[in-house]
Formats: sequence, C-alpha cells, structure tokens
Amino acid sequence: MIEVRHLTKRYGNHMAVSDLSFKIEKGVIYGLLGPNGAGKSTTMNIITGCLGATEGDVLIGGHSITEEPKEAKRLIGYLPEQPPLYMDMTPKEYLRFVMAAKNLPVKGRDGELDSVMEKTRIAEMQNNLIRNLSKGYRQRVGIAQALLGNPEIIILDEPTVGLDPAQIIEIRDLIKELGREHTVILSSHILSEVQAVCDAIMIISKGHLIASDTAENLTAMLAGTTTLRLEAAANESSVRAVLDHVDGIEDLHMMQSSGDATTVELKPEENTDIRARVFHAFAKSDIALLEMTSVRASLEDVFLELTQQEPLQEAAPQDQQESDDKRKEDA
Ligand code: ADP
Ligand code: MG
Repeated sequence: MIEVRHLTKRYGNHMAVSDLSFKIEKGVIYGLLGPNGAGKSTTMNIITGCLGATEGDVLIGGHSITEEPKEAKRLIGYLPEQPPLYMDMTPKEYLRFVMAAKNLPVKGRDGELDSVMEKTRIAEMQNNLIRNLSKGYRQRVGIAQALLGNPEIIILDEPTVGLDPAQIIEIRDLIKELGREHTVILSSHILSEVQAVCDAIMIISKGHLIASDTAENLTAMLAGTTTLRLEAAANESSVRAVLDHVDGIEDLHMMQSSGDATTVELKPEENTDIRARVFHAFAKSDIALLEMTSVRASLEDVFLELTQQEPLQEAAPQDQQESDDKRKEDA
C-alpha cells in the first residue's frame, strides 16, 4: 500500500528524519509513536506530498509521491497537525470547498457530503460556524475533510492532541471505525493512545525508526527481561547462598533486606522458568518464601528503553506539556 524508502530530511544541518524505511499494509491501523521532535510530522508531511524529502522516495499504491503526485495523492486523506480549517465557514461550506479543491465529480458531491458528515457525526453542527465549534467537533471536521473522496489511506497527525478525555475517547472510537474500511496511520507521542487504537506500532526517535511490530510482539521482545521478584524470610547472605545453587539465573538484584526478610529480583535466562526450582531451593534450606511474583516488562518499559537508546535533544516531559497547552490555546 505504502512503501517508504530510505527517507531522509535535513533542515540545514539538522537531521529531522534519517534513512527511514517501512511498509504499510492494507487494512491495518498503524501508530507512528515517538516523543515530540522525533520526526513524526515531517515523515507524514513527506508521505502525503506536502513536503519534499532530502533523499529517498515514497510509493503510494505503486505511485511515487514525487514523480506521480496526482495519482499518489488521490489514495490519501490527510489531517495535518494543524487542521487546515477556515473559521468563518460552516462545516458544510468548508467540506464543499474541499470537495471542489479535491476535484471530486460534481454529481456525487451531495451524497459524499452526507455520507462523510454521518461517518464523523457532524451533521447536527453542519450550519454552525467552525469558529464556534468545540475542539472535538473541529477535529471531526478535520477528519471529515480527510475522508472526502473516500481515499484508501487516512493519515492523521496527533489526532487527539488538545482534546479533553471524553473527546479523546470519541475520536479514538471514530478512528477504530475508520480502520474497518481504510488503512490508517496516526501519530502520537502517547503510548497508551497507540496501544488503544493501533494494530501495529512504529517507534521513531530522533528521526530513526527504532522498532516496528505489533504491540504484542514489541512487548514480547522484552519478554526475556521478565523478572521474578521474591521475598524470603532470611537475611541477605542466606538468601544469596540459596540462590547461588539455583540454575538458570542470569542476573540477581537485591532490592531490600531487613535482617529477617529479603526482597530480591531475579532475571532468568531466556525462556527459562525457574519458579519451581526457586521454591524447592528455599524449602530445602528451610527458609520461608513469603512472596514470588513474575513482573513482565510492559510496553511502557519497552518504549522507554528503546527511546532512551537515542536520547532526546529536546522535549523533556515538561516541554511536551507546555507545547500541548500552547496548542490548546492556539486552537
Ligand atoms: P514530531 O512531529 O515528531 O514532533 P517534527 O517532524 O515536527 O517532529 O520535527 C522533527 C525535528 O525537525 C524537530 O527537531 C524539529 O525541531 C525539526 N523541524 C521541524 N520542522 C522544521 C522546520 N521547518 N525547520 C527546521 N527544523 C524543523
Ligand atoms: Mg508533530
């Protein structure tokens, strides 16, 4: 459906996107996940033909976005980070304006307008000025605009930024519905969002693609680091002595010891279940095992670990919040 080939974008000598390659398959909802400044918007702007790449190419349904932009763009509906809305139009006027700009067949326009307004549930607001709509409704109008002409691929840049929690849920549900009929790519800096909506996740950091897989596989990737946390009724050296004789422990980390109870985290060797061995070892030494829990790495851990490999230049969490707040004010 989409093939991104060795995409690179340089702003002066700043590398915003660096040798990015991936494929998008039909009928899947993809999440482009990365911290602020990772290169998500740049990538989306290039894929949709709004921005030229420094190097590399993008094929949409086999058409190069640089060499056959008309054919390629027909397959894509795009909601940029800053929705291109006209505040002094009503949704109906605006969508008619976009249909004309997209050069849709005049005959089918009334039907198309109704269908898109119904899908995005904006019909009741069609005659209010966009200026007077809530941010949630405006975002729906932005999505409606992307859907006009029924393109196979819908690309949404941070579609829930600046929305309140109820609006976020509505927009997520809408995106999932769109996923039944379209291939969808959305970007987000929020892991839980991508987890809630997407089938496949691409993580980018500092312009590099650092992981690309299903949410389950990404989590499983770190399954080797599933740890076993246990508490035993003995002091640190006794607990160590017991564990020294258990096979299959790759790593051992003392968490806490208070003389008569010790908490320790174990990292088992890959694909090794050491729980029974640990239990019997303590039983044989006549030390009570007070607690034993498997702690699986969450996707949050995976994300943090992966993005830490490429430390951020900007966008500490504080800055992210500020820029989100600013966007809210701008909107
Ligand atoms: P994201 O959407 O993931 O937050 P962007 O694609 O907007 O990231 O930006 C990637 C990097 O490129 C950032 O470091 C940003 O500052 C830089 N950048 C984006 N647009 C421009 C521009 N027009 N000129 C110079 N640098 C830019
Ligand atoms: Mg962005």
